[in-house]
Amino acid sequence: MLHTHDHSVFSATLLDWFDAHKRPLPWRTDYQPYHVWISEIMLQQTQMERGVDYFLRWTDRLPDIAAVAAASEDEVLKLWEGLGYYSRVRNLHKAARIIMERHGGVFPDDIASIRALPGIGDYTAGAIASIAFGQDVVCVDANVERVIARVCDMDSPVKQKENMAFIRATAESLLPSGKAREFNQAMMELGALVCSKKARCESCPVSRWCEALHLGIVQERPVPAPRKPITHLDVATGLLIRDGRIFIQKRPEHGVWAGFWEFPGGCVEEGEHPSETVVREFMEEMEFAVTPIDKITVINHGYTTYRVSLHCYFLKLDKGDGTPVLHAATEYRWVRFDELDNYTLPAGHRKLADALATDLRMAALLKA
Ligand code: SF4
Repeated sequence: MLHTHDHSVFSATLLDWFDAHKRPLPWRTDYQPYHVWISEIMLQQTQMERGVDYFLRWTDRLPDIAAVAAASEDEVLKLWEGLGYYSRVRNLHKAARIIMERHGGVFPDDIASIRALPGIGDYTAGAIASIAFGQDVVCVDANVERVIARVCDMDSPVKQKENMAFIRATAESLLPSGKAREFNQAMMELGALVCSKKARCESCPVSRWCEALHLGIVQERPVPAPRKPITHLDVATGLLIRDGRIFIQKRPEHGVWAGFWEFPGGCVEEGEHPSETVVREFMEEMEFAVTPIDKITVINHGYTTYRVSLHCYFLKLDKGDGTPVLHAATEYRWVRFDELDNYTLPAGHRKLADALATDLRMAALLKA
């Protein structure tokens, strides 16, 4: 049981453990605000190892805030491709431009200005203020929630409003003054390395205070939130090939996959076969009359609460010179297959392009 008089011992024990076990991550060398910011936004949506690869690639190409502000949207999207949640990189891009315009290119250090930047919520503002600038604020992510839910044996889901307030208050009461940089990272590191989904309590530095361990109910904590229903979608898309080139178009700046390049297509309507969907979508979106010549594959992929079956076809243009009338896109290109790597594609379309790299039908159609 964690009593108030134990708080300082708990924190000191945790800090000692962190000092001995922390991972050598690239942004931990100098805690530059720019590096902490990029890492925090990236790590909200990916595993650490993958996040480090993306971080190194990003900072190699964009070494500072000025470089991000000067980069094009296509470039930042390309560097982010595969991480998902693309509104985050758009907000990061906007924030870099605001920092250049309003803060003279220097990352602001007061929490109100940090919180006012696009894409920065309470958690990220706390992380940057504490980890980059050493300010005494807590940051609570899913790792911290899990540790406190177990140590304090919380018997209802952590995302309930009163539980979130309790977790934050508990973290604040444990925070040793002047040590927020280390303490916040230590709590998150403990959740990531030891108090993970499958807890390794035998290696835990704070096990003596853990109520869930004493009660033998670690795997029942945190109490899971009710699951959101999954929606299944059938979508059809087509590869229109002409003179050895493939048609792609750029999606509008708002909505799903905003600003991405894609093979055109859309949702299969009730009573419609996917091969009919591509014909209809190509006419509606580009005024192209097309005919499906072969089914390529079905790509299954998921995003947020959707599970998508993407039905993919090779298409031929029935007439015309290949100039579209765009109704659902801002630009178009006819590209060689090897040029697709230069464009940021939605996840399902990237999987399709990868699958086509070894498809002999594709090679034959490009040569025809
Ligand atoms: S004892 Fe186990 S459940 Fe409790 S905080 Fe440590 S790792 Fe987590």
